[in-house]
Amino acid sequence: MKIISLLNQDKLSISFEVFPPKTESAFDSVKHATEEIAKLRPSFMSVTYGAGGGTSKYTLDIAKDIKQNYGVPSIAHLTCVSSTKGTVREKIKEIKEAGIKNVMALRGDIPAELENADRSKWDYRHAIDLIRELKKAGDFCIGGACYPEIHPESVNQKEDVKYLKEKVEAGCDFLTTQMFFDNNLLYNFLYKIREAGITTPIVPGVMPITNANQVDRAIKLSGSFMPQRFKSLVDKFGSSPSAMKQAGIAYATDQIIDLFANGIKNVHVYSMNKPDVASKIISNLSDILS
Ligand code: FAD
Repeated sequence: MKIISLLNQDKLSISFEVFPPKTESAFDSVKHATEEIAKLRPSFMSVTYGAGGGTSKYTLDIAKDIKQNYGVPSIAHLTCVSSTKGTVREKIKEIKEAGIKNVMALRGDIPAELENADRSKWDYRHAIDLIRELKKAGDFCIGGACYPEIHPESVNQKEDVKYLKEKVEAGCDFLTTQMFFDNNLLYNFLYKIREAGITTPIVPGVMPITNANQVDRAIKLSGSFMPQRFKSLVDKFGSSPSAMKQAGIAYATDQIIDLFANGIKNVHVYSMNKPDVASKIISNLSDILS
């Protein structure tokens, strides 16, 4: 099933993100975690590609398993920046053969060793190049990334939104946001992109922070602003793993309820292969989702 048709339904829903294992020895435990999350019947599940320490090799295996064995629509992430046309085309062929209809088309982060390389020689410089490739290759539902607090490499939001619009016009069916911890940032962003003429569905991405160590990592990765309300919670409960977990899940739940109350229909939760966290969120929202 194409994700875009789920997003167009008039129903509140939650989707989850998982990442593939780093090594073969971790494959079974990651597969088990993703299956436990799939049993919660989310609207769909996304499987990252080379992000969060997982390797690209297993993205398709996990996405296929979720779809075939649990009947949950899945979306396979694919990045392009450090790949050749040959590699990307081979990956797209494998995605097609696996029967995956949904692809999250990403540029990927620039590897440190390529920061100063001559980018004019690269086969893919931006996600839009991959989106064009996917459009040519088949009938995929294509997702793209967007950044309520602007992409860290962007000069300003106006420029970021201009490129985002080009990306949508190239064939993005929907956009998923980077994590954010203050919903007002999302609402401001939505206003700006709608004003710029981007009408595609936006899926806000919410990350439940369940331990204090995650905070620095999340900020480093996303450049997200941490509201005082969130910082106080980490200060107070950060030293108690169970209290921090409970508080982090409650904060994410609160964010999701506010998003639903303000017209968002599907929220994507960065569940980080944690079935217990995913399950708690679903149970916190049980009456709202029914
Ligand atoms: P782009 O859309 O190419 O944008 C990157 C930068 O280039 C922005 O500053 C943009 O404004 C600018 N830009 C875009 N087009 C042009 C243009 N034509 N000319 C000039 N400038 C332009 N990473 C992974 O490695 N694996 C994953 O699975 C993964 N999943 C993600 C899922 C989500 C929802 C998000 C938000 C991010 C994910 N990432 C993942 C991280 C992502 O790869 C990085 O944020 C990366 O730095 C940018 O990817 P992008 O697709 O947004 O790039």
